[in-house]
Amino acid sequence: MQKGESKQAGSEGEIGRGDANGTGNPREDGYVPDRFFEIRFESIGGLGAHAAGQILATSAVLGLRMNGAHFSSYGSEKKGSVVRSFVRVGPSELPVRTSAPVETPDAIVVFHKALLKSPVAFAGLKPDGTIIYTSPPGEPVPPAIAGLPATVRVARVDALQIAGDERSRPNAVLLGALCALFPFLETEVVLDYLGKEFEKKHPAAVQSNEKAFRRGAAELELVSIDGGGEESIPSTRFEPLWGYETAPIGGVLPRPGNSAWNDLSTARMGWIPVFDEERCIHCALCDLVCPDYCFVWKADRDTGVPTETRLMGIDYRYCKGCMRCIESCPTGALTRETEKSGMADALRVPLFPEIIA
Ligand code: SF4
Ligand code: SF4
Repeated sequence: MQKGESKQAGSEGEIGRGDANGTGNPREDGYVPDRFFEIRFESIGGLGAHAAGQILATSAVLGLRMNGAHFSSYGSEKKGSVVRSFVRVGPSELPVRTSAPVETPDAIVVFHKALLKSPVAFAGLKPDGTIIYTSPPGEPVPPAIAGLPATVRVARVDALQIAGDERSRPNAVLLGALCALFPFLETEVVLDYLGKEFEKKHPAAVQSNEKAFRRGAAELELVSIDGGGEESIPSTRFEPLWGYETAPIGGVLPRPGNSAWNDLSTARMGWIPVFDEERCIHCALCDLVCPDYCFVWKADRDTGVPTETRLMGIDYRYCKGCMRCIESCPTGALTRETEKSGMADALRVPLFPEIIA
């Protein structure tokens, strides 16, 4: 990425001048002299991690006179698939010599709490690094976070809820939180480029995004953890499962029926359909529109006639939170509710209880 227009030279926020404190250690504003500061966004498609990385790197290069780079890795670009976005920002005189994924980040931003189930989400975080995750205030700290080294700075913000309230996206909230924790990423500069990103395509979103960004900065909560020592967190390098010599024969399903093991919970963006059996007339319209196999049916308990089935509930393991079922239900037996921690597990009716209880 090339340097273009610049922030006023000599201003208080001027960076990109190398080792400002002569020690090689981070400055008070979080800036690390003489090397690239590396950020990794851990997300799923649809939450805006790629756009956040792009906006941040553009702000740093064009607005803050730094050098920087950004790219993302994702699979099929579908809503709900894993997305990683990588940002490097550093002194203007330091050339970017790598386009490799960020393996030992200074900061990790986790866009969806469900991603914390996998240690891959915080792999390689520096022992004095920062992790921001999305969670409602007051919820217990997830075990994966609680076990991080005590030297890690942990912060959380309810990005999904704030984004919903402000009709924005979680990326705006989390960018606000990140800038609040690292003041060298100047809030007003990043906000300016956030606005520029949307002013032509979605002018109506500019104001909502600004509100979400500012709430992200204001409602950020630092979380104290006892931690599991000061060891480094191992980084993870992904090796392809199959190569040209080891790939199975095309067209063969080595494990038929394996989609039962899919877990699509991470695709939900903060809302969940809740089923009220009392209001249900078992018309199956919800099942007709559901893109997956979420609804659990059973032969009628009263008549015992196998062709007369009753809806028992939803297996949230397969629910992407698309809310189509709610729109189609004629009786209001399905309602959209904010997903709270543990709610899906408590309400879930297993579709395949014999294999996944
Ligand atoms: S659409 Fe509504 S009423 Fe019909 S089966 Fe589904 S939940 Fe029940
Ligand atoms: S929200 Fe409803 S329609 Fe969408 S995946 Fe979940 S159960 Fe199926």
